Amino acid sequence: MSVLVFVESEKGSIKKSGLEIVSYGKAMANHLNIPLVAVTFFNGEAELLKTYGPDKVINLTAKEEIFNAASISESLKILAIQEKASVSLLSATANGRYLAPLLAAKLEAAYIPNAVALPNQFSPLRVKCSCFTNKAFKFTQSNRAHTVLTLATNSFGLHENTGETSFETIALKESDQSLKTLGIEKASAAISIADAEVVVSGGRGLKGPENWGMIEELADVLGAATACSKPVSDLGWRPHSEHVGQTGKPVASNLYIAIGISGAIQHLAGINASKTKVVINNDPEAPFFKAADYGIVGDAFEVVPELIQKLKAKA
Ligand code: FAD
Repeated sequence: MSVLVFVESEKGSIKKSGLEIVSYGKAMANHLNIPLVAVTFFNGEAELLKTYGPDKVINLTAKEEIFNAASISESLKILAIQEKASVSLLSATANGRYLAPLLAAKLEAAYIPNAVALPNQFSPLRVKCSCFTNKAFKFTQSNRAHTVLTLATNSFGLHENTGETSFETIALKESDQSLKTLGIEKASAAISIADAEVVVSGGRGLKGPENWGMIEELADVLGAATACSKPVSDLGWRPHSEHVGQTGKPVASNLYIAIGISGAIQHLAGINASKTKVVINNDPEAPFFKAADYGIVGDAFEVVPELIQKLKAKA
């Protein structure tokens, strides 16, 4: 028996969510007293991965770097069977949410999306998950021999572990080409919304794209990613890759700063998983204040430059 985790990487570098899923997998494997097997595509980051304690790392090699869900899920299926895994863990990222149901179908496994904690019961597996776009929690129980589970990003954190790690390399299983990614258009932002600890987000209250300089400057000072509301990306003020909400990207950052965003339910649906929400809005009746931990009632064009100045003075 083993716990299998799929560790996401980008251009050979392991993502933060990848280290988080290894941390989570190791805690689960320790509890069950079985080994943790990590499957990944990496490029010389063996030492980093070892820090989080997998007993075995299987490095997949592929002919091309493009994410191929059919091939990866097929390889994961074969490895889950080979390693006698009782549970396969993936991050609840865009790629993880794509892969996990494919893998569950291939393994005839139960699929538990969006876990936010370690299982509170292991036999049968029972785990707390977020649902209704992070507005509620539920406990889900798997009654299958194999469970595929995704972990909500930033819900468990990174935990280092000690122990011996063995490494092996295998070639990615070629898929039947029925699903083929033809190309990837990358977001231009320096820090991706998915991996960001802090997100600075702007709405229609900023009046136009020419005013985004202060949003970028604030993000720069805080080491944050930039994001926006739907109308802002629909109007072409910002790229669609920055649109957060029900129909955009989910944000699970530690800090989410919303500037000139009203707080419509569809926007809040995407940011509910963020830990601390700060709102800057000149309308004290803006619905966002009800969802916020901290609020500043004021004109963004006065508040934001002052905030940048104060943060720079502190740095
Ligand atoms: P507005 O509603 O125009 O709000 C602008 C805010 O800025 C106001 O609260 C105003 O008080 C404030 N403001 C104005 N001037 C200033 C100033 N000088 N300083 C400070 N504050 C100022 N929206 C999303 O964001 N994400 C989604 O995924 C999404 N999905 C949707 C799906 C559906 C099916 C539908 C119907 C809608 C969806 N929407 C989504 C749209 C959503 O309903 C809202 O219309 C949208 O979020 C509003 O964007 P906003 O807050 O930027 O703009």
